[in-house]
Amino acid sequence: MKICVVGAGYVGLTTAVCFAEMGHTIRLIDVDQEKIEKIREGVAPIYEEGLQELLTKNREKIEAISDYDFDEDIIFICVGTPSRPDGKIDLRYVTGAAESIAKKMREGSVVVVKSTVFPGTTEGVVAPIIREHCPDFSIAMNPEFLREGKAIHDFLHPDRVVIGVSDGRGEDVLRELYQPLHAPILITTPTEAEMIKYASNALLATKISFANEVGNVCKMLGIDTHRVMEGVGMDHRISPHFLNAGMGFGGSCFPKDLRGIYGGAKELGYEMEIIKAVLDVNEKQPMKVVEILEKYMEITGKVIAVLGLAFKADTDDVRESRSIPLIRALREKGAVVRAYDPMATENMRKIIPDIVYCRSVAEALQDADACVIATDWKEFEYIDFSPMKNTLVVEGRRILKKREGITYEGVCW
Ligand code: NAD
Repeated sequence: MKICVVGAGYVGLTTAVCFAEMGHTIRLIDVDQEKIEKIREGVAPIYEEGLQELLTKNREKIEAISDYDFDEDIIFICVGTPSRPDGKIDLRYVTGAAESIAKKMREGSVVVVKSTVFPGTTEGVVAPIIREHCPDFSIAMNPEFLREGKAIHDFLHPDRVVIGVSDGRGEDVLRELYQPLHAPILITTPTEAEMIKYASNALLATKISFANEVGNVCKMLGIDTHRVMEGVGMDHRISPHFLNAGMGFGGSCFPKDLRGIYGGAKELGYEMEIIKAVLDVNEKQPMKVVEILEKYMEITGKVIAVLGLAFKADTDDVRESRSIPLIRALREKGAVVRAYDPMATENMRKIIPDIVYCRSVAEALQDADACVIATDWKEFEYIDFSPMKNTLVVEGRRILKKREGITYEGVCW
């Protein structure tokens, strides 16, 4: 098939290279000229496991452009949907893309919204924009469930494919497209598909905040929360996933999507109290690290090494990373922060420019009074803490395999 993908970020670029890998021809549109130039040169503008390899392999099948000059009749919208200050999602990129697509597309095309949008948006906002320019088209909503860091794997091996459609043409095209992945396909309405995405992220985030609350109490009781959650997760009705206590969740999806569903529901007149509590627990969790540090020392004037800036391992994405409020709090208390991350330094530098960025763990630890491990990168499993002045280590993620010879506390353990 010939497919047009609009938006070349984590989701759009992954969608493009994976569909190309599945044998399709892709036109990839993004308004960010610099990003498009890189992709044209065959260089992935973001880090994702296996992305560069698939881009290189399928370069001939992907044409990257920065204007809406396309003639494909299957068009995926994969642009960003960031939070507005009131928590609801900012639809301006989605509506902008829909306008541009509508002006150019052919009658009979299938427009698929892959961006995460509040239930009702595809049929209530996107479809009317398109209809103004092009009356005969099919609209679909196909939420994306990939995890950053494992985006390529997850796209090609999904647990399920949700296809929200309002007519048979959209269903036929998307069924044919996804059939080779041999995943269960669930056909719904577009609005149900939108809610499936929000509800899934809300439930996963709830598991994390729940594990953190239990973890906070376990720490007070002096028991091992990871052992507790191991026992809880052995129940097949619960599953062990997303029960790791720690500094909380970040990233471009969970915080934004929870605020989005909360804000959207509130506008409908319903207060989602569980979602509010999940977000509240998540806000407080990084501050637990600061409280632990303060048990041992006055933070003012101390050198604190922060290892891990990405919101999780295997990505360079720092959006809403829990390291951000942590570093800001340490700075406010007068600490000198020396930070290290294997992938995410340049992205964090754009958000917090004025801390010391180091090129290795050893450099960050040099003469430090304390160390905080904030991301579960594999290279943090074994650390030589000897360059530190004072070997106080606080773990926000449970990753260290060797803790002998240091003063150690975990955020919930
Ligand atoms: P991103 O910020 O990485 O990429 C969005 C891209 O869209 C940018 O490159 C931007 O330049 C481009 N863009 C904006 N307006 C445009 C326009 N009018 N025309 C063409 N391009 C335009 O975002 P992302 O992380 O890929 O997320 C995209 C959507 O997918 C969001 O709704 C997000 O919630 C959802 N999602 C993300 C993930 C994830 O892990 N990142 C997972 C599932 C779903």
